[in-house]
Amino acid sequence: MRMSSTPAVAASSEEAGADGVRQPGGEVHAWLPGQNQTVCGLPLSRTRLRRFPHVPFDYASTDVLTEADPVGFICPRCLAATQGRRRQEKSWVRHSPRP
Ligand SMILES: [Zn+2]
Repeated sequence: MRMSSTPAVAASSEEAGADGVRQPGGEVHAWLPGQNQTVCGLPLSRTRLRRFPHVPFDYASTDVLTEADPVGFICPRCLAATQGRRRQEKSWVRHSPRP
């Protein structure tokens, strides 16, 4: 079995997108396909989270959720786990250097 290192999304509810593709809603967590729990350790079967293997977990803690957004809550533990990984891949970005 091939292990995928790209986290996908597990969410507490779902919405049909404009193109008919399921989109996550409610509470979203990062989930590695092939595992039966989220990155933060919630068992999918007991929490009744739905799996979205076609949706990559690419949320950031700076994301602002609006009322029009189907997603109401992004798990901070899953965010921290996936962002730590992303920070290693990206080079450091300088924030607004003074002139
Ligand atoms: Zn989580």
